Amino acid sequence: MMRQPVALITGGRQGIGQAIVKQLAKVGFAVAFTARNSNDDCAELIAYCESVGSRACYIPNDLADISGHCALLDQVISWGGGLDCLVNNAGISSLARGDLLELTTESFDQVMTVNVRGTLFLSQAVAKLMLETSAECYRSIITISSVSALMASPERADYCMSKAALAMFNKTLALRLAGDNIGVFELRPGIIKTSMTAGVANRYEQHIQEGLVPAKRWGIPEDIASAVVPFAQGYMAFASGSAIELDGGLSINRL
Ligand code: NAP
Repeated sequence: MMRQPVALITGGRQGIGQAIVKQLAKVGFAVAFTARNSNDDCAELIAYCESVGSRACYIPNDLADISGHCALLDQVISWGGGLDCLVNNAGISSLARGDLLELTTESFDQVMTVNVRGTLFLSQAVAKLMLETSAECYRSIITISSVSALMASPERADYCMSKAALAMFNKTLALRLAGDNIGVFELRPGIIKTSMTAGVANRYEQHIQEGLVPAKRWGIPEDIASAVVPFAQGYMAFASGSAIELDGGLSINRL
């Protein structure tokens, strides 16, 4: 009997990651997901995945702690029997918004440690694992970066730098894995309504009203989750190394 494809989503407990967990469960993936919170058993989210005919497993895991990546992957493999898709979604914003000239080493280090270092080394471990198994079936590594990979926000320069680093990581990883039937993609959300943007929601609301986003609305987590599916399922396999903006036109240069 064919094994059910397995996806691992980092930061799947809430926000964009949670929508990705639900969407991948709906299209037939068994979904393992991580987050930092160990007090939550994510029973509701797991029950949702079961209600759409799939299965799910929550594994509390700090992406920043690279020594824990091996145990995480062992757990995923023993639960799911393999790993076909990694979605690098977990990420944090700057500790505080403010003048670039006042950026702290603490904020820079935390943002880089989670967003870049954690994502890079988890992906490296997953890539090695995927290479150990057959190249006949398609696998994928999908990174949720941001329009901030290219659009500058001087009030959170460290966050933008971290996403720009992921953009180059995506290309280099895609080159490394292109011959092994592993698709590597970067998705760049714009302004999405989640807890990450809750603190500046009023400001963004006003900018959106004033026309910042051509689509004239906030993005919702489902806008990102639905776009993950064709990359995870292999419909976009030949586009490996590509980045796609999911931002309602926000990043289109205008006169
Ligand atoms: P969110 O609502 O704050 O959710 C982030 C998730 O990542 C949470 O589940 C959180 O865990 C998890 N996480 C954070 N640090 C972690 C760590 N060290 N180890 C494991 N998990 C960790 O944020 P979001 O808006 O959904 O963002 C998801 C991704 O989209 C991020 O990479 C973000 O940069 C990117 N993005 C967001 C927007 C936006 O407008 N919202 C725009 C562009 C890009 P807990 O649940 O335990 O806290």
